[in-house]
Amino acid sequence: MTAQDEPLRIAVVGPATGSQGLAERLEAAGKITGANFFAADNGTALLAEGVADAALLWLPAATDVAIVATLVPLLDWLGLIGAAVIAVEVDVDAERLATALKTWRQSAPAGNEAPLAAVPVNSAGDLPTWYEGPGLGEALERLVAMTGRRTPPFRLLVEAVESAQPSSSVAGRLFGAQPVVGDEIVLSPSNQVARISALESAEHLVLQLDRAVTAESGEMVSLTSDAPVETDVFRARFQWRDRAALAAGDNIELELCGRRTPVQVQSLEAVIGRQPPLAEVAEGELAEAILRSKTLLALDAFDKNPQSGRFTLLRQERVVGHGVVSMFGYADQRDLVTVRATNVTRVPHTVTTEARTQHNGHRGGVLWLTGLSASGKSTLAVELERQLFARDYQVYVLDGDNIRHGLNANLGFSPEDRSENIRRVGEVAALFARAGFIALTAFISPYRSDRQRAREAAEGDFHEIFVDADLAACEERDPKGLYKRARDGEIPDFTGISAPYEAPEDPELAVDTVNQDVATCVARIVDYIETVLSANPPARRSAG
Ligand code: ADP
Repeated sequence: MTAQDEPLRIAVVGPATGSQGLAERLEAAGKITGANFFAADNGTALLAEGVADAALLWLPAATDVAIVATLVPLLDWLGLIGAAVIAVEVDVDAERLATALKTWRQSAPAGNEAPLAAVPVNSAGDLPTWYEGPGLGEALERLVAMTGRRTPPFRLLVEAVESAQPSSSVAGRLFGAQPVVGDEIVLSPSNQVARISALESAEHLVLQLDRAVTAESGEMVSLTSDAPVETDVFRARFQWRDRAALAAGDNIELELCGRRTPVQVQSLEAVIGRQPPLAEVAEGELAEAILRSKTLLALDAFDKNPQSGRFTLLRQERVVGHGVVSMFGYADQRDLVTVRATNVTRVPHTVTTEARTQHNGHRGGVLWLTGLSASGKSTLAVELERQLFARDYQVYVLDGDNIRHGLNANLGFSPEDRSENIRRVGEVAALFARAGFIALTAFISPYRSDRQRAREAAEGDFHEIFVDADLAACEERDPKGLYKRARDGEIPDFTGISAPYEAPEDPELAVDTVNQDVATCVARIVDYIETVLSANPPARRSAG
């Protein structure tokens, strides 16, 4: 389903006036088949329009090569870094060209062998004598051959649904490729599946489905084999366009494919050209923020679908930014909410929870320790288990290492696998709690949504304990040398360094392991357990 006959859209990125002229010259020359050129001055238009397949970076003689360092992160965000040609005006020397290329390569993400070329040209289009590489035309032709235009997968934004057993019809706006009769589709985020029995495309596409669905407008239809991501958190890369700055914690509106959703700025991750700490984003700045919504959203990352992976930001009905979606470091939550077996009922137990509580002398529950690596989760869990066991508690530690050796041996550390790891631990811990045990879990569990699901699995018997130690303290401890290896680039997706950690917003208990020793932290947690999980609080209190 590739549309090879569609021309590649090449953005000429560079100082405004020069890039416009170069784009016009290239477009007029018409020598490069399969490519259209347009100017995108400093690149911000690309965020608003999201229309480029490749980039040509234009550095006229007067430009400061430092601009390369500003543009590279932007082109990287847009996925264009692997598809770029740099044209440098020839009156500059070989040294300058080499510097520009070096800057480019250094700012490219690790492991990115960007197939780029730097071509020196002058106004007459001549190459300087010292230059031995391909000319601009040849370099661009290679780029066209290499890149190919991406046809976005089928997406339909639902505008109207008519459902009458046993079928339904769904109308909406089409983004990307057209489906065909017989295709199996899924509605997101409601996760309903059906097959297309007929379709009409007029101004809007209308799908006849072989079963009744109950979709609200704003849902997204796709092929089940190529569905959008479902998530309540993602990375937004955007240009901020409001005079009033944007800060972490702000509530704004997100418009994706014509749907509006309220979102909160969870954190500001980067502002191009500035170093952290980042308190806010000012007008005109290019920024990356983590946005969170209350409900699951169906969305596409921009690198997967440049049409549906773009958004507009609004504040009080005013447009205050344009940008693109990235899922880097975040998991697709679809699998975690999809229940595949529907014909399952729970076995009723004849031993009641009350009977178990009486028998054990305490209630069951999940004590969920979360915190950065080396914050002290395992140390505390093991000591808690020892002390609680000595006080006749039914208690068991579920720890990352022992679970990953068995139950979760087939999972790695990608965002999806981490979420699945935590989902299984949450379910196992909930079973322990139902069996009357105190399950102490010691997992980084970096995503809030995963911990929320673990909470739901435990049906009220869940106690989130934030093992609070900041990154600097954990890195200083580094008992297993993991932080050092992560900093050296040996461990990808390392929480706190190259993967996110979302601290609890409202934990049942927080212990400060930087300023309090192990014994004090353990005593606080034991105290908490004795209070909330005791079958007979006053007796146990006086005994303890
Ligand atoms: P995690 O399981 O969170 O990765 P570990 O328990 O393996 O962390 O490592 C934590 C390290 O911090 C240990 O070396 C431990 O001795 C040290 N530490 C210092 N103070 C505390 C404290 N108050 N609570 C827990 N650990 C502490």
